[in-house]
Amino acid sequence: MASAELMRLWKLNQIDSGLLDVRQRAANLDVGKKIAAELAELTQQEAEVGGRARKLSADLTDLEIAQKGFEDKIKRIDKQLFGGTIVNPREVENLEKEIAALKRQRDASDGKILELWELLPPAKEAAAKIEVKLAEKQKQLADRKKAVLAEKTALEAEFARLTKMRPDATKGISPGLMAKYDSIRQRGAGVGMAEVTKRLGCSGCGTVLAERVVVSLKEDKVITCESCHKILYYSEGVV
Ligand SMILES: [Zn+2]
Repeated sequence: MASAELMRLWKLNQIDSGLLDVRQRAANLDVGKKIAAELAELTQQEAEVGGRARKLSADLTDLEIAQKGFEDKIKRIDKQLFGGTIVNPREVENLEKEIAALKRQRDASDGKILELWELLPPAKEAAAKIEVKLAEKQKQLADRKKAVLAEKTALEAEFARLTKMRPDATKGISPGLMAKYDSIRQRGAGVGMAEVTKRLGCSGCGTVLAERVVVSLKEDKVITCESCHKILYYSEGVV
């Protein structure tokens, strides 16, 4: 069985392991980088596909306005022609030419309008599909941000709880053992202790302990693993 001092150190080690774990989890929090990248991609797609639909729609409006302009002019000239005020054959001929030109323009824009009537619905449909995807992705990112905030808050609470426990946990541990523990932690990625497994191995690195090491452990001596150099905690095979 481990000495009372080693048992205290083991408890301290568990607190420190907990702090280490919180730090690692905080560093690895998923803040939604992947979702944000996907969102940027969809935003780009929306600009292209939605932009095309908006352009077609604006073109159609322009053509329809121009179309109405041609019709109005034709009507106006027709009125002039049949109003009986214009009798000069030269003038009549000119007006008839003007009407013919306007009709050609109207027919040309008719053709373009028909073309746009065909192009616009599928373009709008494609844009609507991307808008749906975009909205979903935006919600996904908002949800992730909310979740990460909750995770961060929970980790901060756990960190505060463990930090508060630590000073009490150092009591009853000699300065010599404490210094040894701290220096091993510094060299060993923050971890200073390892348990002895049922098979009498080091839980830190898996090394099977030498017989003399086990004998020393049973004598309550402070022993470090020969391989990973962590202080071994032996609880008589209950681990
Ligand atoms: Zn080891």
